[in-house]
Parts: sequence; C-alpha cells; structure tokens
Amino acid sequence: MNRSTPRRLLDFVTRRLRLQRYLRDPGDGRRQPQIPAKALLWSLLIGQVLRACSFLAVERLVRSSARRALAVSRPFSDDALDYFTERLDPTFTRAALAHVLHQAKRNKAFESSGGIGLAVDGTTVGWWASSGCSLCRPYRNADQEIAGYRHHVVLASVVGTGLSLPFDVEPYGTGDSEYAAGQRLLRRAIERLGVRFAAYVVVDGEFATAPFLHTAGDLGLPIVARLKANLPELLAAAQKRFRSQPPKLTFPHGSDRVELWDAEDFDPWENLHGETVRVLFYRQQKPDGEVIEAFWLTDSPIAKVSSRVLYHRAKSRWEIENQGFNDAKNRHGLEHICHHHPNSLLITWLLTSLALTIERLYRLRYLRRGKHPPRTAMDFVQLLWLSLSQPTSHDSS
Ligand SMILES: [Zn+2]
Repeated sequence: MNRSTPRRLLDFVTRRLRLQRYLRDPGDGRRQPQIPAKALLWSLLIGQVLRACSFLAVERLVRSSARRALAVSRPFSDDALDYFTERLDPTFTRAALAHVLHQAKRNKAFESSGGIGLAVDGTTVGWWASSGCSLCRPYRNADQEIAGYRHHVVLASVVGTGLSLPFDVEPYGTGDSEYAAGQRLLRRAIERLGVRFAAYVVVDGEFATAPFLHTAGDLGLPIVARLKANLPELLAAAQKRFRSQPPKLTFPHGSDRVELWDAEDFDPWENLHGETVRVLFYRQQKPDGEVIEAFWLTDSPIAKVSSRVLYHRAKSRWEIENQGFNDAKNRHGLEHICHHHPNSLLITWLLTSLALTIERLYRLRYLRRGKHPPRTAMDFVQLLWLSLSQPTSHDSS
C-alpha cells in the first residue's frame, strides 16, 4: 500500500496531529465566504509539500483532474487565495504550529540527549522592484541608490533533536530591527510552548547583544550565542587565552577530529549583567585537512552543561541555515512573493513552516517503521506526485 498520498497525509494531519479544528477554522476573516476555508488552507499546505509554491501553481492543481486525489473539495482561482490570505488571522496558524510541537514532544519524536534546542535567525526574502507593502525595506547598491525592496524575517526552529522543525516567523519592516524581532519571536515561543519545552536557545553573533541575552535570561532559557567581532574585547581575551593553552578535550565527531577549549571566568562586556561569561572554542579538523573554528558564549555553567554537550548545542545552530533557510528557499519557494500584501506574506511564510514541519514528522517519524531507512524528501515528493495520477474511489473532504 502506498502511504505517500495527499489523502494519507491529510489523515495524519487531522487524526495524529489533531489539526482537524484548525483546518476547519483557521482564523478566516472573509465575509460571506463561498469556498470553505479548509479547501483553501489544505490546498496551500499540500501545494507547499508538493513544492507547487505559487498561488497560480495551486490553482492549476485544484483545477486539474488531480483535485480529488489532493482531497480538495472545490476548485478555485488564485484570486481566492489572495483574498483568503489577506484576511487570515496568523494567530491560529502559530497556535497550530505550537500544538504540533507539543504533540511531537509527547509522542517522543525528538532524540534529545543534549536537550531540545530553539534556533532563532534572520534572513532576507521576496525581492520587489518598487515598494509594495508596509514590510518592504529598501535595498541599496554600492552607490547607496535604492536598487529594489526586500522583506526581512526572523525564523524560529526546533534544532538539536534529529528533526529540524521551523515553527514561527516574525517579520520586521523599516524602523524595526532583527534583534528586536528576534526578542518578540522568543517571547512568543516561550508563551506558546512553555519554558520547560526547550533546554536552550542558540543564535548567531548578531544576536549576542545584551538586550537579547537578557530577554532569554528573563524568560528562563539558557542561551548559546556565537562570539564574533561585534564583541571585540571578549573575543580578543578568549583568543589570547585559548591559543596559548592545549585543548581541554579532544574527541572524534564522525570522521572529524574535534578539539575543545572551555572556560567560564571571562569578564562580561559593559552592558551585560552577571559577574563572568563562559566561552567555548572548538577547532574541528576534516579528513581533507580543512579546519573549522568558532567561538561561542553561554550563560550555562560547566557544572550543568558539559563542554561536549555545549559543543553539540553550538553545532545545532547550522540546522536553521541548512534544514531551515536552504530547504525553505531552494525547495519551497520562501523567496517567492505569492501576493504582495503584508498579511498574505506572513501567512505564506507561516504555512511554509507548517508544511515543512508536517512533512518531516510524517516522513521521518510516522512512515519510519521497522528497520528501513527513511525516504528522502525528494523520493517522498515524487511518490506524492505519482499518486496524483492514480484513480481515487471516494472523496471525504
Ligand atoms: Zn513588501
């Protein structure tokens, strides 16, 4: 039996993930809607999973003979998606994402020897020639002339668990900033998930600012942040000390050799609360001789989080780059503007996160029975497409 069909996936979403109510009532703000919200919402989600990411591509699917196999009750045009996403309340989709994460944790989907991590990071999406919405930010060329407009977002993802699940997006327009948006995102994550959900938050150097670190601290969440040149005194102190000492720890990581330095008595910088800062430095040598080095800072004491666990927490940050931004941009059209309206954009970014999260839980956990290795994302999407040409006997949507 082929379990890689849109109808089976919908069954998983409604019964296992218990999103039946969300699909029926996703925060629809349309007056006197003609097309059920579920038909529009599910089309957007299954379209994302199938990598048919533009509204026009979704229209082609639901107007084709594949509509019944997609479990979509009615055909519609791309304008219906414009109108629907302009008015859809994002609170409901954010709540659905938090619900799915709780469900995954309850079902022990996370392999979390180092604790569940939350990664927060910013990126740029959706280029446009002229200013088209309140979230547009001008993009300047080398001569400081406006060359176009882009949209900036901060993404939050579960990391460090063998399963990267993006779960929220916070945009920031002109006059706002990446780390202010990051703080809003982190506060909302803790409100929705609870402070006990994750063991740490991991961020890149741009977020290693006192206000962001204090926000995480106030929320009760230990932080792991990349230490870069934006904190020059601390970086210089760590470089000076560690370069003159032998490593504290050496171990293999796959085929790589890792050397670790770790000390918790560095002086904090001016605005940071607390007496001292802990800094970790790793030097990772690949078999071909390539060496990767990075400095990290944290507020977790060595007595609570060992050097090795801290190393794995620091490394988990790359998941938001690879399984987060790279997958969402290259395979799921995150950079494409479906409909240039601020709420439509936000809804599309959130639904991309939900589609990625659903697809990973289904493919990597639910379908992974017995000893066979899990299907790749590419194999899975091909099976879904192939299933669309098979006749379906019933329509229960
Ligand atoms: Zn815009």
